[in-house]
Amino acid sequence: MRRIGAEILVIGGGATGAGIALDAALRGFKTLLVEKGDLAHGTTGRYHGLLHSGGRYAVRDPQAARECIAENRILRRIMPGAIEDTGGFFLLLPEDDPAYADRWVMACAEADIPVEEIALAAALAEEPMLTPEAVRVFRTPDAACDSFDALHALARGIHAAGGIVRARHRVESLIVEGSHVRGAQVYDERTGESVEIRAEMVVNAAGPWAGQIAAMAGIALPVALSKGTLLAYAHRLTQAVLSRCAMPDDGDALVPVGTVSVIGTTSVPVEDLGRALSSEQPPSGLRPPPPCKGEAGWGFRHTTVQTRNTLDGLDSVEIEPWEVEKLKRRAEALVPAARDARLLRAWAGVRPLFQDESPAEGGRALTRTHTVVDHATRDGIGRFISVVGGKFTTYRLMAEDTVDLVGQKLGVYRACRTADERLPGNEPGRYHIFNKRYECIDRAPSAESVLCECELVTREQLAEAIRAGSVMALDDLRRDLRLGMGPCQGAFCAFRAAGVLREAQALTPEAANAALLDFLQERWKGLRPIATGSTARQAMLNIRLYRDLLGLDRLPCDTEPSP
Ligand SMILES: Cc1cc2nc3c(=O)[nH]c(=O)nc-3n(C[C@H](O)[C@H](O)[C@H](O)COP(=O)(O)OP(=O)(O)OC[C@H]3O[C@@H](n4cnc5c(N)ncnc54)[C@H](O)[C@@H]3O)c2cc1C
Repeated sequence: MRRIGAEILVIGGGATGAGIALDAALRGFKTLLVEKGDLAHGTTGRYHGLLHSGGRYAVRDPQAARECIAENRILRRIMPGAIEDTGGFFLLLPEDDPAYADRWVMACAEADIPVEEIALAAALAEEPMLTPEAVRVFRTPDAACDSFDALHALARGIHAAGGIVRARHRVESLIVEGSHVRGAQVYDERTGESVEIRAEMVVNAAGPWAGQIAAMAGIALPVALSKGTLLAYAHRLTQAVLSRCAMPDDGDALVPVGTVSVIGTTSVPVEDLGRALSSEQPPSGLRPPPPCKGEAGWGFRHTTVQTRNTLDGLDSVEIEPWEVEKLKRRAEALVPAARDARLLRAWAGVRPLFQDESPAEGGRALTRTHTVVDHATRDGIGRFISVVGGKFTTYRLMAEDTVDLVGQKLGVYRACRTADERLPGNEPGRYHIFNKRYECIDRAPSAESVLCECELVTREQLAEAIRAGSVMALDDLRRDLRLGMGPCQGAFCAFRAAGVLREAQALTPEAANAALLDFLQERWKGLRPIATGSTARQAMLNIRLYRDLLGLDRLPCDTEPSP
């Protein structure tokens, strides 16, 4: 067994864990981050993509609103390369409470959120697709943020500050000695090796899995899970974020993310994800669900299916037909043309909500949006801290609060630097430009080297990402480069990318087949809940290509693709 020592061990490679690892490393702590999957594999990689202005929370939760706008300004400074400065419009629609708008304007002013009311005609000149029925329109500093780019930048920042990031390292148990957590036993998924990590302080930033990690120290952490479903349209409906000027509700924001527009979310309590898993087996191979007689379209039906990640049961959630219908209606209220737009994909993420009945006695309810739990005071287990809740937009603040507590516990007082240190690869004021990806065509040695035409990913970019990262699956390349995320959902790029992966990693044909099948299965899961009309036609094309033409589900496959 390999043994490693660190001052701070952070569990979880989402925005929160990566933010904590960066903050700790910048304060001079010897820091190690472990993530069981790929970075951003959890909620962070499934979020809505909205860098909140705080407008959404201004009336209901002024504290959250103030945090969002303050962090929005900071993230624009430290990671502009991950942010597309789309701006936002809050729309008051005829069915919304007209009195809310004035209350909202006042609440935004109190939270320091800049809001400008503009004439509908001016808004329509900028965004011709938004509903002409809007009664009032307000401009806000909302934006889109690519969580994969953000996590890459954070990982580079951690390395630059002397910290270590280990993806594919799953914490299997915590080392508890007496009344202290002393580290963790970790399984390296790439090598199959067990690793013992000893640390001065262990930070649990495992998002929806935080309760599972706490349980490894015998602690009951009351984390309620809430599922949020999102739908992507196959192209951008607007260039700016659109939000409802109303109390927060399901499907009240439409966010332009890369090549698509995303409507979301729902908010549904999730009780027993394990049971959801066993109630319906994930579809095997690429077989479509049985045709549903009497239904229009291609025989697909809206059905409750699973979006299941291969890593473990808690990664699985169901998307309900009512969620799809409700989100579509909500998108159409903001952009009537959404009615005729093609849906590309559905997916869901899970929010962890801390529900301690007596936070004052143990958990430090720092704000209503996130909680840093000192398990020494709450549970009598020292050197162990959990952080739960929050938003992507406020990950940096959560990290600052957490590392402040770490320093206090270790008796080491060093100032937080993350609000001022720009992340590597970012230049002041240089926001991500949506159509910059076209440059990849100019740089490509030949037209044939563009492997993913939807997202403009070249063979050279793929090869570089495989060389640089800890790629174990084609889905890792999706997170790195947006491979297969565009309108064809992998129809034309997946087999090419599998070829590049096979070459670069000298995979056996069986392992390459398995990698391809896994990737297509992931894409399929997102198509299936919405597979009617033109989405079904795309799904059928993919099935025809891979199942009927290439016979992929009959080819020999390694069940576990080798690294
Ligand atoms: C549907 C939805 C939409 C959202 N939209 C927005 C939005 O638009 N804007 C916004 O600001 N916020 C949004 N949020 C909130 C935001 O996504 C999260 O606050 C943010 O991503 C923080 O994630 P995290 O790092 O805490 O958790 P995660 O991203 O889930 O990270 C936890 C990590 O821990 C890892 N892990 C778990 N167990 C282990 C183990 N045993 N060993 C090693 N690693 C382990 C997991 O693999 C995972 O990667 C949304 C949330 C949801 C659910």
